[in-house]
Amino acid sequence: MGESNVGMQGQGRVIPVADLRYQAALPRIPDQLPAPGHWPQLLRDTRQRRLHDLRISVTDRCNFRCTYCMPKSVFDKDYAFLPQSSLLSFEEITRVARLFAACGVEKIRLTGGEPLLRKHLEKLIEMLAALRTPDGQPLDLTLTTNGSVLPRKVQALKAAGLKRITVSLDSLDDSRFRAMNDVDFPVADVLKGIDAAHNAGLTPLKINMVVKKGLNDQDVVPMARHFKGSGHIVRFIEFMDVGASNGWRMDDVMPSAAIVARINEAYPLEPIDPNYQGEVAERWRYKDGSGEIGVISSVTQAFCGTCSRARLSTEGKLFTCLFAQQGHDLRGLLRGGYSDAQIVAALGLIWGERSDRYSEIRTAETAALRKVEMSYIGG
Ligand code: SAM
Ligand code: SF4
Ligand code: SF4
Repeated sequence: MGESNVGMQGQGRVIPVADLRYQAALPRIPDQLPAPGHWPQLLRDTRQRRLHDLRISVTDRCNFRCTYCMPKSVFDKDYAFLPQSSLLSFEEITRVARLFAACGVEKIRLTGGEPLLRKHLEKLIEMLAALRTPDGQPLDLTLTTNGSVLPRKVQALKAAGLKRITVSLDSLDDSRFRAMNDVDFPVADVLKGIDAAHNAGLTPLKINMVVKKGLNDQDVVPMARHFKGSGHIVRFIEFMDVGASNGWRMDDVMPSAAIVARINEAYPLEPIDPNYQGEVAERWRYKDGSGEIGVISSVTQAFCGTCSRARLSTEGKLFTCLFAQQGHDLRGLLRGGYSDAQIVAALGLIWGERSDRYSEIRTAETAALRKVEMSYIGG
């Protein structure tokens, strides 16, 4: 089973994952291409799940070393991040996004690594903001960030056409937050980023908190209290077995049900309907009308049945599941002179053959598989 792949601290050095990044075959192109004007507009997989969301990782680098995502024991000074030449250019990303939009994608989330570390990101946002769905609507364009450089970037992002933003924040306790990001970054500076995004109108703002039992679960209620009534939506995320380096154990997962119970005890909650089919977070609102929270229960309540997300890695590999072990080399098509019709046809095949449902079949064995890293594939 390759136990050493799990990246357990204290069990010696973890096997580098860089080689995994190259496990991606060139997608097959069907003989029969869609005629001009007859592109699919909507793709469904083997479980009738629609392709609706695309997450694009714009860098595999980050200025944080969150212990559950990029532990220093693996992502150290010797770690081989992708070279600049491997990265998709803004033009390549925009072309792929345009073709995905033609196939039914309505929502794009930029992520990473830390997306705001990608130089001139606002230029890419401007290019993506100009794209339209087949019926002429702009895409729902958003971004997930650790918030560290938001205060100085937020105006440019907003001006470029970014609609909303999600900021990750795992604790309001400064010493715990510094320990979790493992680069001693102060919580006050992330809170400044959140305020800056709010003032720029990137609302409603979402705040992502990964909850790891015994590490920051005592911060759940203070986090709810702090943002209650602010208009921001805190989403509590179960610690997941993404990648192969965060030493995940089921015992470290704080189930969403326990999170809801704890908050409900302090501030009574009631469930509310999802905004749309396939929404990842389960929504709850405060009975006193002071806002809502969300819980993302990828481990304890799998939501594969409605999963409509594809992920594009920094160097153009397409993954149809967060827990994938293998991708599809779209960059090979982009740089190989393939036409738009050929790429659209390839996407149709990839999505049409998709059967992923990792969270439904997770076991201790699958958790130990060498999956792609979150910082590479994007959250
Ligand atoms: N750097 C940005 C950030 O932190 O917001 C964007 C990329 S990060 C990989 C995207 C999201 O994934 C973050 O909200 C982060 O907390 C979450 N994440 C990372 N590793 C995780 C894990 N093992 N389990 C659950 N969520 C995780
Ligand atoms: Fe960086 Fe985001 Fe991963 Fe933290 S969660 S290490 S901020 S990519
Ligand atoms: Fe989607 Fe894969 Fe997560 Fe299931 S495990 S919800 S298929 S990304």
